[in-house]
Amino acid sequence: MPDISISNITPDKISLPLFKEKNVEVTVLRLDKIHPVISGNKWFKLRYYLEEASERNKKTIITFGGAWSNHIVATAAACQIKGLSSIGIIRGEKMEKLSPTLTQAKQLGMQLVFINREDYKEKKIPSAFNKDEYYFVDEGGYGSKGAAGAATILDYCRKEYYSHICCAAGTGTMTAGLINNSLPFQEVTSVSVLKNNFELEKNINHLLKDREKPFRVIHDYHFGGYAKCKPELIEFMNEFYMETTIPSDFVYTGKLFYAVTNLIKNNFFPVRSRLLLIHSGGLQGNASLNTGTLIF
Ligand SMILES: *Cc1c(COP(=O)(O)O)cnc(C)c1O
Repeated sequence: MPDISISNITPDKISLPLFKEKNVEVTVLRLDKIHPVISGNKWFKLRYYLEEASERNKKTIITFGGAWSNHIVATAAACQIKGLSSIGIIRGEKMEKLSPTLTQAKQLGMQLVFINREDYKEKKIPSAFNKDEYYFVDEGGYGSKGAAGAATILDYCRKEYYSHICCAAGTGTMTAGLINNSLPFQEVTSVSVLKNNFELEKNINHLLKDREKPFRVIHDYHFGGYAKCKPELIEFMNEFYMETTIPSDFVYTGKLFYAVTNLIKNNFFPVRSRLLLIHSGGLQGNASLNTGTLIF
């Protein structure tokens, strides 16, 4: 397992005819390039949790997720790199065949524990795992340490150059971190990848240092819901790749790039806006698509 390569991050300016026509500048911050597995925002969200675990001398990290969770596989990989053990509490009964995500997490040394959906909802974990020696990280890395880690994403670009920061949101942890580390004149726009997750604004707010800071959550680009996908989205991702050579994933960044392109089309951003789009990684999630679906 290679180490994390923060120095691989680049701000890639992309020029499409639409952006020129609308007089907006678009730059993609390539967090997807830091690592093949812990790509993107997951490393940033995990960094302070792992730091605290080692300060407290905990050798095992326990976290939660579903069968397709980027957070689960990222935690497994990060723990392997840091020499920690990891346990994943997985929502639902064990499947005949593990998902590519869980297969990879297991290969990275994570112990997988399956619990039924009701227990999962209440975070009722088997008593054997309820011990002091474990360090617990919430589902998706949600929490103030996760947000504090995500806030540091903006330290890897010239943040003052941009007028708008756009990202995809699951739990909203990264969004909150970006808002916390944005400048007063900047606006964060967050694209929810879940359907009708109207708790999101509240969950983001909960992690904000300055509750007065305005931000926008867009709920119109979920394409049917979490990890749901439509041919239109795949077509867009392939086209976007051909035009920019930037790959995206169908769960998060594909929806983000689609949404931002559409918002630009609809004059959502004022002319001369300088947009920073966070490429939060997640590319390994495309492994669950049939081969040949994507051209990259
Ligand atoms: C997990 C993930 C997100 C969502 O981050 P949250 O902090 O949960 O909102 C966005 N993009 C990618 C690629 C992810 O894996």
